[in-house]
Amino acid sequence: MQTVEERKEITEYWESSIDLGREPGEGAIQFAKQFIQSQADAIPILQRLLDGEIHDATDNRIKRCAYCQYYWRDDSLRNTKKTCCDDCHTAKKSIQKRQQRERQDLINPKPRKRKLIDDYIWWLEYPLWLDEYSMLKIGWKFEVPHTMKTINSIEAKNHIYGDGNRKTSIKKAEY
Ligand SMILES: [Zn+2]
Repeated sequence: MQTVEERKEITEYWESSIDLGREPGEGAIQFAKQFIQSQADAIPILQRLLDGEIHDATDNRIKRCAYCQYYWRDDSLRNTKKTCCDDCHTAKKSIQKRQQRERQDLINPKPRKRKLIDDYIWWLEYPLWLDEYSMLKIGWKFEVPHTMKTINSIEAKNHIYGDGNRKTSIKKAEY
């Protein structure tokens, strides 16, 4: 039975030693497998492998994967590969691409896409629209037009009471 303290210690050891932040790639796993005989001794062996104590240091084909950081052996003809497997290669390339894109965006940023609301000159004393299409497209959300019935009703009231918002007609005193 492990105590909490022991378990914590083991977890910390595991995290500090084995975990490099990424899963080992195919090539790295293949490389590590040849050193491991049983499941029980896997962790200390992996630890020693990561410390660079097990593998043949004179073999210049054994290197660290540029993506997953684990040791692996390059069996390619010219010994020019940088990553242990295709997945690591793709992941590394996509990171490179993203960095290039970010750098490019920083140097010449894309112009902001023009929006309909840009046609509304709201900061003047009398706000105005530069474009009728934009005005109708956006304006209807804020100024919903009356129905024919309502307009008729307003007109009729205006006819009775006169223009403006008055309920009672203007009384003119005759002197
Ligand atoms: Zn890798």
